[in-house]
Amino acid sequence: MDKIRVTIWNEFRHEKEDPQVAAIYPEGLHKAIADGIAADDLEIRLATLDEPENGLPDSVLNTTDVLVWWGHCAHREVSEVVARKAHRRILEGMGLIALHSSHFSRIFGMALGCSGTLHWREAGEKERLWNIAPTHPITQGIGEYFELEHEEMYGERFDIPDDGRTIFLSWFEGGDVFRSGVAFERGYGRIFYFQPGHEAYPNYYDRNVLRVIGNAVRWAKPVFFRELDAPCRPALEPIRSRGKNGDGGRESVLG
Ligand code: ZN
Repeated sequence: MDKIRVTIWNEFRHEKEDPQVAAIYPEGLHKAIADGIAADDLEIRLATLDEPENGLPDSVLNTTDVLVWWGHCAHREVSEVVARKAHRRILEGMGLIALHSSHFSRIFGMALGCSGTLHWREAGEKERLWNIAPTHPITQGIGEYFELEHEEMYGERFDIPDDGRTIFLSWFEGGDVFRSGVAFERGYGRIFYFQPGHEAYPNYYDRNVLRVIGNAVRWAKPVFFRELDAPCRPALEPIRSRGKNGDGGRESVLG
């Protein structure tokens, strides 16, 4: 069986600039995620914003089955060209796992055509994530709910398209609720948004969070991959009702 080629992309700024974050994720949160989901069926690469072409040259993007994305304070530093290429590849079949504050990333906005606005509060409060899609591949191995002792609050209303399937619904200690796991399809690609992962808390070491990300990667792997084109299709059978001007038979229908 071919391995799923996973690229975990991280802005990788907080870990370099904030000693408290560096203490939690000394090699970056992308490395913690990579170590946490490592498995025989996954071939994992790491990419970061400050690398050439934002870490996503064609050689990487075109050999990525599932892109895992974590961005926060530098969304606008991702070049529009790179974001457009990644968007195109999603439409062709690549999966995208958008984590935490990636709701404001260029790629999330392009792919889903929404503002991604929400409410937030950084109070280190408790979060309870309810699994409301127990038959979905992303929730396998997850119980009825799981809890994170400390997380940044993200609250409704979350401006995302209504055609996503809500997988997790969160309650926060301060009273807010949030659609914390939502699955979409765009073109031939699958997209999963998953809210936990504020850089100040060690939640990318949490067993359930890692399980969800690992499940999501396998769910989002390309089922069908097709480069974007719209070729003219020759007729399979002779067309007898063709109009004089080749207008697809309109004349004969109208008599
Ligand atoms: Zn955050």
